[in-house]
Amino acid sequence: IPTKPIQSQEQRIEVCVRKRPLNKRELAIKEQDIATLSGTRTIEIHAPKQKVDLTKYTDHHSFTFDQVFDPTTSNRTIYQKTTKPLVEHMFQGGKATCFAYGQTGSGKTYTMLDPNHGLYIQATTDIFRLLNKPEYKHLEAWVGYYEIYQGQLYDLLNKRQQLIPREDGKGNVHISVLKEHRIHSSATMMQVFDFGNRERTTCKTKSNDTSSRSHAILQILLKTSKENIYGKLNFIDLAGSERGTDRGINSDSKLRLEGAEINRSLLALKECIRALDQDKKHAPFRGSKLTMVLKDSFVGNSRTCMIATISPNNSNSDHTLNTLKYADRSL
Ligand code: ADP
Ligand code: MG
Repeated sequence: IPTKPIQSQEQRIEVCVRKRPLNKRELAIKEQDIATLSGTRTIEIHAPKQKVDLTKYTDHHSFTFDQVFDPTTSNRTIYQKTTKPLVEHMFQGGKATCFAYGQTGSGKTYTMLDPNHGLYIQATTDIFRLLNKPEYKHLEAWVGYYEIYQGQLYDLLNKRQQLIPREDGKGNVHISVLKEHRIHSSATMMQVFDFGNRERTTCKTKSNDTSSRSHAILQILLKTSKENIYGKLNFIDLAGSERGTDRGINSDSKLRLEGAEINRSLLALKECIRALDQDKKHAPFRGSKLTMVLKDSFVGNSRTCMIATISPNNSNSDHTLNTLKYADRSL
């Protein structure tokens, strides 16, 4: 009797959690570390019962993921254990997406886009190392970088030109007209990327963390010619997850609308991932611009890695629990 082929969903979608260290300020005010890793897959949260709605929380929670990373884990190790397989998948002609989800300040950008060892930098280095191999001589690297802010797409490499995602008859999504740049070296890729980062949404309110209000999507394409896509890898630095939940914190209606939009897109993302995880035929990609543009990266021969980043300190326990609940594939 032939055994059922293991089309492992674990392989298709991987969910990891990374806990950052307590920072200087948190240490100075003697904040309690409420997150404990047990083993390589489980994280326990001990959040004292001090919340308004006590029915929602107990003081102990345990979550299990594909991998959990403690504060001593380097970006280099995280790359090896999460993103490197995605790069290899792209070179086998597949599509892959790596995204960071979490509260502002929990380490999304540090993980994805840190200029020294962020996952994106290490992937770039690996991509150009592989492109130099004889068997990949026919492939070209192309890069596009855009952000989604309030449900609109802006090209970060083309003067914030507004972009429109369109689906063709075959279900492929085209972003018109995203400027794609052919890149010949990892050094150039990093320059292009730095340029794009400076173009990210700036907001004139008191909050100086501008990157927390938009989703940034960096796409690296392998092409056999200008038109033909061979493989694709997306890096996504999502908007701060608290932006979607703290709708009551400000009276500024612009910010409230922003929060509602972020909330909608993060929920749509979760629903799509859940549908894929459960191998459902139809995932609600049309639920948001974010999921719409990711559609062709999620279906077919695709792999996805979500890294949920958490802050360890007690005063962020609400956000930490929300992040872990969002990432928990068993819920
Ligand atoms: P986010 O992008 O989620 O808002 P950041 O990546 O900007 O958060 O991280 C907030 C701060 O914490 C930064 O100063 C960053 O350098 C630091 N940080 C985050 N994660 C780590 C980590 N794993 N180790 C050391 N410092 C970290
Ligand atoms: Mg950030």
